[in-house]
Amino acid sequence: MPREPILQRTERETEEDRQLRPQLMRDMIGQREVFARVEIAIDAARKRGEVLGHILFDGPPGLGKTTFATVIPREMGVDLQIASGAVLQAPKDLLVYLTNLQEGSVLFIDEIHRLPKAVEEFLYPAMEDFRIDIALGEGVNARMINMPLKPFTLIGATTRSGLLSAPLRDRFMMREHLDFYSIAELAEIVTRNAAKFRVPLAEDAALEIASRCRGTPRLANNRLRWVRDYATSRHDGRITRTVAQQALAMQGIDDRGLDPQDRKYLETILRVFDGGPAGVEAIAHTMNAAIDTLSDEVEPFLLRAGLVVRTPRGRKLTADCYEHLGVSAPAADNEPQGELF
Ligand code: ADP
Repeated sequence: MPREPILQRTERETEEDRQLRPQLMRDMIGQREVFARVEIAIDAARKRGEVLGHILFDGPPGLGKTTFATVIPREMGVDLQIASGAVLQAPKDLLVYLTNLQEGSVLFIDEIHRLPKAVEEFLYPAMEDFRIDIALGEGVNARMINMPLKPFTLIGATTRSGLLSAPLRDRFMMREHLDFYSIAELAEIVTRNAAKFRVPLAEDAALEIASRCRGTPRLANNRLRWVRDYATSRHDGRITRTVAQQALAMQGIDDRGLDPQDRKYLETILRVFDGGPAGVEAIAHTMNAAIDTLSDEVEPFLLRAGLVVRTPRGRKLTADCYEHLGVSAPAADNEPQGELF
């Protein structure tokens, strides 16, 4: 069964995503510490009549980076422009956005780790001094001209903060890491979104969906949509706990929320690498999967859930994982203890 896409959004999802995405900060659930710091920064900037400092959000896909980037400008009453590091391939691509900025407006660059070096360097003076340096002409006749920009806020999002160069990272006033959500927070998200869809949802059904969405609001939304379809097609439209369990089982999602690709990853380590340690490249080749998909989308949750550990020699299954897969763990070996992250 193909993996349920985390990053890819279909037309229907795009429309519904808009409906489900919190519009204001007070509609956001969870991430309380990040939320409190962002709120203080906004409040202080507003009271001083200054532009908000640049903010970087990092964390696995679907945890709310784009949501933060869209509610912040709304909270400040300023414009938002959205760009992606994947398409800003030359300084001129960025120029359009920078020259369109209004005083205090927000430029959001998603996947900022994908900016090529030349674009990154073009961004430094823009972030630091609100100016850009443009080279005119070539060779001995080349001249640098300085162009002032309106003071603005850059919000960057990345799933790979480790890939950002230190000079870029250091130019952000705040760097915020988004972590996975608790089951209670996800149950609240599922309950609110079921109300937006006007589908009846039992309290224990909300908890069931919440505990099977890998700590990720975007997956909570995707799972809710599927359970809603299943309830409409196979039942009377009401989502009970049993309906949720049946619907999710049909997608191959197990009681810890792991999908077929997660289990394939764990079973590859178990069967091909004898439980590990194994390097992510070797696992990816064996599974015929992209290394980036494993390290961005699959591994963060499995590490967080304590099903896999990282050791100096690679990934290794934990005793909890053997239990989950229903196989007996090998006798303790001399492998050094891994760390969760
Ligand atoms: P990212 O940019 O980190 O990949 P998004 O911000 O696009 O993730 O979040 C995906 C979806 O999850 C959003 O459209 C929204 O519906 C939901 N979501 C994310 N964060 C929250 C939150 N804190 N509270 C409620 N819903 C959220």
